[in-house]
Amino acid sequence: MTLPANGDRAALAPKSVSGDRLCRLVGERTGDTDLAHDARVVSQVLPFKVSSYVVDELIDWDLAPNDPIYRLTFPHRDMLDIEHFELVEEAVLAGDKEGIRQAVTKVQYALNPHPSNQLSMNVPQDEELDAWGLQHKYPETLLVFPRQGQTCHSYCGYCFRWAQFVERPELKQAVPAPETMTNYISRHPEITDVLLTGGDPLVMRTDLLASYLEPLLEPGREHVETIRIGTKALSFWPYRLLAGPEADSLLRLLERLTAAGKHVAMMLHLSHPTELKTDAVKAALSRLASTGAVLRAQAPVVRHVNDDPHTWAELWQAEVRNGVVPYYMFVERDTGARRYYGMPLATATEIYRGALQRVSGLGRTARGPVMSATPGKVAIDGVVELDRGPAFALRMLQARRPEMVGRPFFAAYDPHAQWWDELRPYGTRDREFFGADVEVDAR
Ligand code: SF4
Repeated sequence: MTLPANGDRAALAPKSVSGDRLCRLVGERTGDTDLAHDARVVSQVLPFKVSSYVVDELIDWDLAPNDPIYRLTFPHRDMLDIEHFELVEEAVLAGDKEGIRQAVTKVQYALNPHPSNQLSMNVPQDEELDAWGLQHKYPETLLVFPRQGQTCHSYCGYCFRWAQFVERPELKQAVPAPETMTNYISRHPEITDVLLTGGDPLVMRTDLLASYLEPLLEPGREHVETIRIGTKALSFWPYRLLAGPEADSLLRLLERLTAAGKHVAMMLHLSHPTELKTDAVKAALSRLASTGAVLRAQAPVVRHVNDDPHTWAELWQAEVRNGVVPYYMFVERDTGARRYYGMPLATATEIYRGALQRVSGLGRTARGPVMSATPGKVAIDGVVELDRGPAFALRMLQARRPEMVGRPFFAAYDPHAQWWDELRPYGTRDREFFGADVEVDAR
């Protein structure tokens, strides 16, 4: 793929495939009709979209379907339980639209569309304004879901926000206009950090993005010191930063924010070292850094994509080489296609330790593995042997109750546990972190 010429609208709207075209592409590129059939069934339930950049420049089709970027972006039958797969498959083969709709609805709701009580606990309950599309879980940080940013250039199969992209308005979080955000911020001086998220805010036109960000420079909002933008555009469509007036205006916008004294953090979602290998991404990173924004990287550790320490060590080293600070290794959340991508916490911990051992201090800045769970961000610091047997050593990096932050605590070791709600307090002193209704481990 060559760079679009200046002014080419393709720089903003990449060619991407989804739906039936995506399934045909699987068949054409892999020559495997079963894979194409499976993709057709699974993509009824979970959203899939792949940009031409990912297809042409990132995936090694000689390795597909075992190429990690293919696994990251293309559907696989094991993403659904067998009974769910067969339910949808039957309706698809029958060509019965209403049957497909009913089967898909049933399966989507069974996949825990909004994990960790996001809607019931994170959306502010404000009597005077409608805060739908905002999340305020920690006092200092506000998450904003701009309506126009609720898609991505490609979708990740493991996406924990997949419910944003399916045709279900009742599942979609989105603020209709910047005023929802600015009115809320003006009433909450404790907010120091605003995170634009989605979806991917960089799918938005720059003028729309500016309509959310420039009001943060206005008098009365000085308490907002940090602006974070979560994006995977560097991996899925780096031309957003490279070509045409939209790219240039985005860079100027970031420059205005940093020049005004805001700390601008680009929260780059980087899953695999391949994403940092093209000339396009290297140029895009360099342009982004020139604005004064700080570049940080995060991603979940997932099977089929980055489930070994060598991959993470290579990723962190490549990030450091390209001026990006490794920030988080997350645990795959309990939603969507976790049955395909998830792994035991014990395995994630070993991968994290193994990766740390292979990089210098500058690559060891990623915290992990971390669960972004209902009570807060919980880091697994390792497995320790205590008097009654092994335990996970845990620490809250961030918490709904700030007094919990930084205090070590323990959960009974469970080699199969994949998420916070499968853990039990090791002893009575650990119980306060889990909630009074969670029983202490009886071993
Ligand atoms: S980039 Fe983020 S929001 Fe978009 S599909 Fe991937 S995980 Fe989901």
